[in-house]
Amino acid sequence: MRSITWRLTFWYAGILMAILIICGMAVFWVMRYLLFTEAIREVQATVVRIQNMTNPEQENGNYNENDNYNHVDLDDPELTASADNGILWVQITTPDGRVLNSSRALRDVVLAPGYVGPPVLTELNGQKVILAGAHLTGGALVQVARPLGREKIFLEILAGVLGLLALGGLGLAVVGGWVITRAALRPVHGLIRTARQISTTDLSRRIKLCGPRDELYTLAETFNQMLDRLEQGFRSQQEFVAAASHDLRTPLTVVKSYTDLLNRWGKDDPAVVEESVQAMAKAVGVMERLVNDLLLLARMQAGPSLDPAPVALDELAEETVQEARTLSHDVSVKLGPVERAVVAADEDYLRRALWALVDNAIKYNRPGGEVTLIVTINRAQNEAAISITDTGPGIDERDLPRIFDRFYRADPSRGQVRGFGLGLPLAKEIVEAHGGRISVESRPGQGSRFTIVMPLLFQEHLSVNQVNWSGAH
Ligand code: ADP
Repeated sequence: MRSITWRLTFWYAGILMAILIICGMAVFWVMRYLLFTEAIREVQATVVRIQNMTNPEQENGNYNENDNYNHVDLDDPELTASADNGILWVQITTPDGRVLNSSRALRDVVLAPGYVGPPVLTELNGQKVILAGAHLTGGALVQVARPLGREKIFLEILAGVLGLLALGGLGLAVVGGWVITRAALRPVHGLIRTARQISTTDLSRRIKLCGPRDELYTLAETFNQMLDRLEQGFRSQQEFVAAASHDLRTPLTVVKSYTDLLNRWGKDDPAVVEESVQAMAKAVGVMERLVNDLLLLARMQAGPSLDPAPVALDELAEETVQEARTLSHDVSVKLGPVERAVVAADEDYLRRALWALVDNAIKYNRPGGEVTLIVTINRAQNEAAISITDTGPGIDERDLPRIFDRFYRADPSRGQVRGFGLGLPLAKEIVEAHGGRISVESRPGQGSRFTIVMPLLFQEHLSVNQVNWSGAH
């Protein structure tokens, strides 16, 4: 009973059996009712006919007690012969119990006791009968009985046939149910087989989709889609590990070479020591940045615990521009038109996301190029946008869909500009964790514009200090 095939077969057969039993019983009882009703009608009609024949004037079966029955021909064999169909028992007796007349079917048997009344089901002479009795003129008594032997045999045969039908139906239901359920569940068995064959190292197997587009087809399709996503996730995980190890290897090689150098020659030469320490510090700085970015990315993906507060994007843009100016000498960083825009954000995280974009705009720019920050508000959508526009080389159309992938670096950046390909994915994770979105437009050769869009917290004419923050979130 463990397998679903057997459980379904059991239920299917059980329900069919219950239906067959109910229908069989209904047929049996309806037939029984019809047969008994017919017998009752026959007995009743015979009693009335004999009453009418013995005294045609008598109405509704009433009779006169003082009439002398002798003047009516109650012993005329015609009287019982008219009702004699070979089955009915008819007996006419005097009030003192002497049999005057009886039907052939009754032969020499005497019906006793004298019953007067409407038809009833009773047992007479060892047989089930429908019995009715009535007074005739002169106090005589007529009793009519209809033995139910034929009906009994008919009903027994009917019960047997219905029982056999039910058993046959049950057998058919078990076999049919099992075959149908097995056929219907075949895709599930395929699913189980494929699932067993899939291991963490081979996610390439898929279930063959065939048959009608029913629930099981959809299940197999969904399972395949889930495998697609798993495979993709697994592959990008492998790429991620490979890329992270690759990026860590370069600074580690630097550290190792300088330690070797120091060990072999350099400990006594202050110039070599100085150079080694500086190079190693730089390499460690690179590793630190990479590890920090990786940690932050992992934290963002695990669902960061943000500490949101009202942040004025215009002020944030202004501060970022000032900070960027001190760090970049080749590229001029400008603040364009800014509107007052307050959003709910964890300021440290948002600053980090914005800085990743500004840093890129400076890094991927031409000498003497420009970076411009602007803040705009879309009142209809209740959103604020902060855009960073640069005059750099722009991004190739083929690279655009991938620049937010972890460790993705467009070809021109590799080896020329420092970076790990984690800035944009981090910025995207941060902005999305705040309910915002990030987008990019770029014209190769002319520059790019990255835009962070965030839901506005409240109208721009209020200052951050004027708002009771505890109720605002
Ligand atoms: P990283 O800058 O460390 O390489 P990012 O995730 O910040 O990594 O950026 C991914 C890639 O997108 C960069 O390597 C670069 O090719 C491209 N990119 C990002 N910003 C710009 C930009 N402002 N102009 C041109 N290319 C850009």
